[in-house]
Amino acid sequence: MLTEGCKTIARVRAHLEDILRPQGDMSALSTVVVHVTDNLARDVNELNFGYQNDRTYETCHRGLSPFTVVDVSMSTMSSRSRKADRLKRATFLTPADVARGDSFPDPIPTRYIDAMELLKRYIHLLDAIVGKKCHHRQMVFEITHEMLQHAHVFEELTPRHIASLLWQRFSDAVDHRGVLPMSNLQLLLSTVRSGDISMHSSMPFTLLSGESDGDPTSAYKTSGPAKGGVTSSTHQEYASVPAKFVQLLGDARTRYPCIRMTTILGAAKPAIPYKDIRLGPIGACSDFMMLGKCMSPSCSYKHNKTSMVEAKHVDAVFPRVQKAWEAYKATNAT
Ligand SMILES: [Zn+2]
Repeated sequence: MLTEGCKTIARVRAHLEDILRPQGDMSALSTVVVHVTDNLARDVNELNFGYQNDRTYETCHRGLSPFTVVDVSMSTMSSRSRKADRLKRATFLTPADVARGDSFPDPIPTRYIDAMELLKRYIHLLDAIVGKKCHHRQMVFEITHEMLQHAHVFEELTPRHIASLLWQRFSDAVDHRGVLPMSNLQLLLSTVRSGDISMHSSMPFTLLSGESDGDPTSAYKTSGPAKGGVTSSTHQEYASVPAKFVQLLGDARTRYPCIRMTTILGAAKPAIPYKDIRLGPIGACSDFMMLGKCMSPSCSYKHNKTSMVEAKHVDAVFPRVQKAWEAYKATNAT
């Protein structure tokens, strides 16, 4: 009976590998590759897509979930399959063996670019298993597309933001499990379109990112403010904001304490790209240059306190920012 089960899983796995094989030009560097694990084959075989409706960290990598397709190194993968092999061959298992055989979610990517790759794999997996008509798949696709189109807005996302985005997709996938006709990701799509990503309150960040000591309860508790927190010592302040911008945006942070330039620029239709409003050197942080302060501890843009801006550059950029700011205020009137 047990052998029959193993054979079925092997067959499902082979079939999945077949349908997930990259199509078209195999030499293209953009080819999406999804590795089929025994767990995935088993869940597909049992149609356990929402994985028993469980939305906790421990099983978030089971069923149809973005955490199913987290990339791990080849060496990790082969050591895992050796371990699984040993367990399969064992004739007697102690509870400890069984616990060791349980798999754990892999740490998720912390950078925008890697998160995008993960989402491409997830979409590829959804395409193969539930098809393009699935509403959850459509929403995940729209959100990913939006984020790829506006890399300049999202490449600054913190690891916490990325975890939150993935967690929201996971929760939606659990709700979905082929029964729920409509995805709840519409709200996420509109926040992504506005360029302002909010944090999911119940997301177990330290566990997802692999920073945890393994105690799930402590990880859930610390999903509040970012590690290290946003303290005044991490603020990057710029004292030479051009007068025109001080006049325009002087009260922006008083009215909207967490506001960032990406959010303001996203309010214009169409959203204004970073390159059209950059002040100072290439790669200069726009929050720093225009709002006078960058509040993101993980911001990778430049914060050079001695940057000077030419008047003609200010004049060129100013009307664009003004337009975006007016649009922002109009939609966020208090
Ligand atoms: Zn910055």
